[in-house]
Amino acid sequence: MTQVETTLRGPSGFSLARQALVEMESAGVWPTPLNFELWLHYLGAPDSPLGAEMKRLIEEHEPFTESVAERLAAEFLPRGRLSEEIRDAGAVLNRELSTVSQAIASAQESQRAYGQTLAEASDKFIPDAEPVALKAVVDGLSSATAKVREENAVLERRLEASVKEVSRLREHLEQVRRDALTDALTGLANRKAFDEALDAACDEQDETGAPMTLAVIDIDHFKRFNDTWGHQTGDQVLRYVASVLARIGRTPRVAARYGGEEFAVIFPGELSGMVEAELNAAREEIASRQLRRRSTNDELGAITVSAGIAQRLPGESAQSLIDRADSALYASKRAGRNRVTNARAISHKAA
Ligand code: GH3
Ligand code: MG
Ligand code: MG
Repeated sequence: MTQVETTLRGPSGFSLARQALVEMESAGVWPTPLNFELWLHYLGAPDSPLGAEMKRLIEEHEPFTESVAERLAAEFLPRGRLSEEIRDAGAVLNRELSTVSQAIASAQESQRAYGQTLAEASDKFIPDAEPVALKAVVDGLSSATAKVREENAVLERRLEASVKEVSRLREHLEQVRRDALTDALTGLANRKAFDEALDAACDEQDETGAPMTLAVIDIDHFKRFNDTWGHQTGDQVLRYVASVLARIGRTPRVAARYGGEEFAVIFPGELSGMVEAELNAAREEIASRQLRRRSTNDELGAITVSAGIAQRLPGESAQSLIDRADSALYASKRAGRNRVTNARAISHKAA
């Protein structure tokens, strides 16, 4: 990291940045901030572990998809490690903070009780002897009470402020955690959140024995769409498809942007037959919608999506489930796109 940062702040900074843009363009990679950062590292520190991995991918002509970029960032860029750390710290701090708020609440309560007891003593403690001495005792007690009450009031105000601060911090942490799990373009769960949710859904299924289904959805001929209408309009289409999937993927389902123009929806507790019907309805809705470019109102025609769905087999690994849903998606593409294929149908044919 430091090596590249130093170069970028030195005499060859701009030429390195320009070179990164040129190389990204010739590699057919979008100049997103993440890709740009990765390319700067690749060109600025080719011998670093990240540089070496990038070199390998490029030489082997591996497609440099968004999920590849995200994997590299998580593995090699300090920023990726940092966001992990923030999430972990957030969890710990959250737990600590709730302990502290409880302690504060109970301290508040005992302070109030103490004040109350003193007040009551000063009211009741009146044995019928030595009125003058008694008066002195009562006066003393009463002024002690007043003092404690005053202190209580101050403490209470302070504690109230702390409680407010604590909940403000907790909300902030919750936001940081949400951001780390959300895809910025579409607002859906990101790849990391998807991976976690799928693992959790698998564990849950192992415990309950309920069914679970996974769908992967990919926009058809999206490269052509981008080439024709531009990347920004392409992004609008991604948001549109995401909005349809967000409606399907309400909790306890999880809708995620899995890669560049690929989405996935987890259906905990659901059989693939029902999921297939619902996805077909969504697919038809998308295909029948005439899209218009927001800025110019140009008619863009319709886009279509293909999907693959797979119901999890008992004890099946998350990766194997993804692979089967991907194969079903691939079958949809091969069969002409704009369709939903159930993995079940493929394995029946193969059998
Ligand atoms: P297929 O029907 O076989 O899926 O063809 P395709 O063109 O959709 O698939 P391919 O994998 O060849 O290309 C995917 C394209 O998706 C490449 C890129 O233009 C586009 N894409 C990926 N991520 C983004 C993004 O974040 N924004 C935009 N606008 N386009 C993206
Ligand atoms: Mg596609
Ligand atoms: Mg794709």
